[in-house]
Amino acid sequence: MAKNGNRILVALGGNAIKQAEERGTAEEQFKNVNTTAIHIVNMIQHLGKDDRLIITHGNGPQSGNLALQQDIAKEQIPPQPLDVVGAMTQGQIGYMFQNCLQNIMTAKGVKVPVISVVNQVLVDRNDPEFVGENASKPVGNFLTEEEAMRLKAEKGWIVKKVKPNAPKPWRRTVPSPDPIANVEAEAIKILVNAGAVVVASGGGGIPVVKENGKLVGVEAVIDKDLAGERLAEVVEADTFLILTDVEKAKLNYGKPNEKALDRMTVAEAKRYLAEGHFLPGSMGPKVKACIRFLEWGGKEAIITSLDKAVDALEGKTGTHIVKG
Ligand code: ADP
Ligand code: MG
Repeated sequence: MAKNGNRILVALGGNAIKQAEERGTAEEQFKNVNTTAIHIVNMIQHLGKDDRLIITHGNGPQSGNLALQQDIAKEQIPPQPLDVVGAMTQGQIGYMFQNCLQNIMTAKGVKVPVISVVNQVLVDRNDPEFVGENASKPVGNFLTEEEAMRLKAEKGWIVKKVKPNAPKPWRRTVPSPDPIANVEAEAIKILVNAGAVVVASGGGGIPVVKENGKLVGVEAVIDKDLAGERLAEVVEADTFLILTDVEKAKLNYGKPNEKALDRMTVAEAKRYLAEGHFLPGSMGPKVKACIRFLEWGGKEAIITSLDKAVDALEGKTGTHIVKG
């Protein structure tokens, strides 16, 4: 089915659900999600009849806490593996968004159906991230050297020293493979085409590999912006809007000659990325995801902060990445 109207894929960063200094109580998370939902409803109110909004989000702090909870309670309750933990956080965060979005829309008289989906994302067992000690994504709490070595021996975890001079310098590190395809793509398209605001691919999606024709969950974490880009392809998004905690991406980030970027072409974005302006694990994958989106056929990618979402869509702020 050919689509009419414009489609915006919104990727929400960590601060949309939990602020860095917070512990992550349900109350705190609801408060943040509610603030985020107010911005999203503002965007929904700017949509035309055939326009669609699709949402994805991170889950780092939530899955980190839940994984730790599995470990602490393991004598009494069997710990669940990372793929299951990822699915649990999709349910938790999806519920919070459905609840807040629906309450705000009811109060404003906006009538749009909202649904979140539990969503698997296919990765390749031969991805370099699964090879040897290549795994690059630190998860869970910080560990002393003794704890790290014990867990490595007991569970076969890959552990890495990520904060050299800290009292607990080590962390478990899991593979962060490249997302290949969104498993529930067809179902998501049906929901979007029918007019729903869909929340999908939460936390980068539940990572699965194909083994003898079957999908099997793996202990890995997919980058939510790269997975969000795959989702943007699925829903044929025109605009990929990455909402984080900075209004614009910068050159020479954190240096005296730092410079905010209003606009960059794909060629410029590739060059800046190669020159190391966008740090790995934060701005790097966002810019990479934007480049992919435009090379796939998307019209525009925008990186900005949550509170500037509507202004950025109107071209007033944010970093806009365009084909050329
Ligand atoms: P989120 O959790 O919102 O998805 P991250 O925290 O991973 O996002 O990435 C946003 C962070 O990226 C910013 O707060 C900033 O510290 C960091 N960053 C790295 N490189 C840059 C850059 N070149 N310009 C702006 N921010 C950058
Ligand atoms: Mg963050």
